[in-house]
Amino acid sequence: MLPVVALVGRPNVGKSTLFNRLTRTRDALVADYPGLTRDRQYGQAEVEGQSFIVIDTGGIVGNEEGIDALMAEQSLMAIDEADAVLFLVDARAGLTSADESIAEYLRKQSKKVFVVANKIDGIDADSAVAEFYHLGLGDTVHQIAAAHNRGVTQLLNLALAPHI
Ligand code: GDP
Ligand code: MG
Repeated sequence: MLPVVALVGRPNVGKSTLFNRLTRTRDALVADYPGLTRDRQYGQAEVEGQSFIVIDTGGIVGNEEGIDALMAEQSLMAIDEADAVLFLVDARAGLTSADESIAEYLRKQSKKVFVVANKIDGIDADSAVAEFYHLGLGDTVHQIAAAHNRGVTQLLNLALAPHI
């Protein structure tokens, strides 16, 4: 079984952009992977020779109702299936209460979580991402611009590295 990487975060942080970036050179998009539930979006991706499954999710907004509850539910299932969780936040929008609720949930899981500040293109990234250290998840906030393929390979190499 290939390693599984889940993309989670509130809506509009760039999860699907990253998913498309990772999977678009592959024709195995949304294939049938036995053992994985199919109501989430799965793709196969490869970074520097390492193949993996990536799961896109609809997003988590916080106080869930209706369609939001369904999106959150599938995000939680994706987290459960993942070997590594990429928790995306928006470097331009800054920290939100939805980010904080997701962080609270992730802190209670025994998953390898990477906080990923997306959309660092054209901004002062180091100062923009400083507040995300308060999420209390690991000692690094990874900086990427999914739309411009910046920081993506480096991030995936870390996420896919065997746990030492
Ligand atoms: P999702 O709801 O988390 O799946 O977010 P999307 O992937 O749909 O992206 C939401 C918006 O953010 C879209 O308008 C994207 O074009 C934009 N976006 C995604 N990645 C980047 C990025 O690296 N830089 C900038 N400036 N915009 C981005
Ligand atoms: Mg999306």
